[in-house]
Amino acid sequence: MYTAQISLTKHPNPPTEEDDFLDENGHYWYGDEDDLLGIIGCLHNNGQVIGTEYPMIEQDNKIIAFANIAEENSLDKKYHNKYVKKELDKLGDRLAFTILGKDPASSDVCQCKNNQQRQFLLLYTTFLSIESPIDCGNCELPVPLYKLPKVYDYSDEHLDIICWQKDYQSYDRLQMHCVTEDFCLQQLGDINSEFTTSSLELRQNMAKSCGIPVYYYLYKHYGESLESEQQRKCPSCGGDWKLETPYRNFDFKCDNCYLLSNIAFDLKD
Ligand SMILES: [Zn+2]
Ligand SMILES: [Zn+2]
Repeated sequence: MYTAQISLTKHPNPPTEEDDFLDENGHYWYGDEDDLLGIIGCLHNNGQVIGTEYPMIEQDNKIIAFANIAEENSLDKKYHNKYVKKELDKLGDRLAFTILGKDPASSDVCQCKNNQQRQFLLLYTTFLSIESPIDCGNCELPVPLYKLPKVYDYSDEHLDIICWQKDYQSYDRLQMHCVTEDFCLQQLGDINSEFTTSSLELRQNMAKSCGIPVYYYLYKHYGESLESEQQRKCPSCGGDWKLETPYRNFDFKCDNCYLLSNIAFDLKD
């Protein structure tokens, strides 16, 4: 993960109410801070900026924001979608990107070539992660969203996945803090919960758009006994899914239903 500085030179001739806030090129002026947040929002929805905190400073004649990005070249032109291009077109050379450096504590991201090396993907996140919630089945590292096809043809953004991640993290954070724990664990762990149902639909649509299997992780916190946990069957097809050797932290994997899970955390040593 890297930190980028995204700076916007203040509008030299800000339009006023008299001009209906339209500048000489016919672009609506929201104010320099909001124009800067506008382009960052578009980059975020395209997976090019990760995280949702963008501290800002005002310096000389500029408004400068700091944002996290997955790779040194995350902001390259080749990854822009139509919304990013439109905002860039509006802001012109008033906008500049500078990569400040790499976070020494962060992990790398997947560099595999799609479909040739990645046999499958995994939709997976935790309340701590700001990285992409899609892990590569080959190298196990997160795959930046801008490297993946959009889930739905009608959209040129990765909002479905980004919103899924935020929803998942809300449940995960609340259950970690023991707030509405039962409800959150049910939403994350029960195959028939409203959240799991919509997550599995997203999983299926991602598999279609990416052309490779996409697995989904079912959270499991409490179990009755270690024995009953070890004998647990796939909650979707009822088949055997216990792995002889765990894959990462996962003890269960069903290749019919594309599900992963673990022996209940409270029973694991
Ligand atoms: Zn990979
Ligand atoms: Zn199954």
